[in-house]
Amino acid sequence: MVTGGCHCGAIRYAVEGEPLTHALCHCSDCRRHAGAPLVGWAMFPAAAVKLTKGEPKVYASSAHGRRHFCADCGTGVFYANEAILPGIIDIQSATMDEPERLPPRAHIQVAERIGWMEDAHALPAFERYPPIT
Ligand SMILES: [Zn+2]
Ligand SMILES: [Zn+2]
Repeated sequence: MVTGGCHCGAIRYAVEGEPLTHALCHCSDCRRHAGAPLVGWAMFPAAAVKLTKGEPKVYASSAHGRRHFCADCGTGVFYANEAILPGIIDIQSATMDEPERLPPRAHIQVAERIGWMEDAHALPAFERYPPIT
């Protein structure tokens, strides 16, 4: 059982079973909707995903793409596309209570990746913040 929800707690979900896949998406739609360089998506059969609290607002981000997000805090939680992925719900994996449990398996849509993201792992890293100079 995987549980998660939005930042403010108005939306909560629970899902049974293992994801069909889990990928880090670099497409421009994900980037712009999230306001982040990439978005992790864990794919589940729609029947396995239960809303346990609240009702997300739905935004049509493309002809058939539907992004479900919390209208109070703005967190994106689900993506559905009945034309391309019927019966599937993608869960924005960073909303999971224990995101460490389900590591991603691939980067996708790298054709649209921001160029500097390719080497982002090589940047200097700080436990918290860099020292102020
Ligand atoms: Zn919220
Ligand atoms: Zn995407």
